[in-house]
Amino acid sequence: MSKKLVPVISQQEIADTVKRLAQELDRDYGDRAPVLVGVLKGCFIFLADLIRQMQTPIQSIELIRLSSYGSATESSGEVKVLVGLPESAIANQHVILIEDIVDTGLSTTTALQLLQAYNPASLKLCSLLDKPERRRVPVAIDYLGIIVPNLFIVGYGLDVNEQYRQLPAIYALEDE
Ligand code: 5GP
Ligand code: MG
Repeated sequence: MSKKLVPVISQQEIADTVKRLAQELDRDYGDRAPVLVGVLKGCFIFLADLIRQMQTPIQSIELIRLSSYGSATESSGEVKVLVGLPESAIANQHVILIEDIVDTGLSTTTALQLLQAYNPASLKLCSLLDKPERRRVPVAIDYLGIIVPNLFIVGYGLDVNEQYRQLPAIYALEDE
């Protein structure tokens, strides 16, 4: 069956949201330069836009990669760390995990546990999107962009089988 792209979040709404999140981080971090840890691959566009709106100095940008959903749109429930990071990047640092979306919460929880084990001075979560209807494990999002309905969405870093990441806005992928 062919699919069509239905607009869900516009480029302007994304830009406004990224700016608001950057302002919230600036307000809370001041000159306590945080370490930003992005979860690949989905975060890469959000992270790039976010850091260019932030005034707060940044200690470092780190990237981790977790195993994603198989190839389809459903989570197997098991999350593996494919690419981690050195403990020295996290220990005693003010760390912010940067997510594209919190869906079931399984991958975010895995990432938070990984970072917490490295003894950060503080650990917060910033996610552009939240799909609370699908949650399987509770996750507290400290800096939240936009709550989305229970639709499979693509664009602005989010893919299906590696396609659509480059779209500048966010769309639901629906059967024609
Ligand atoms: P989790 O289910 O563990 O919270 O989310 C795992 C990952 O699945 C997210 O970081 C994101 O990369 C991907 N994901 C979750 N919901 C969607 C969605 O609606 N669309 C796309 N393209 N990816 C999603
Ligand atoms: Mg992700």
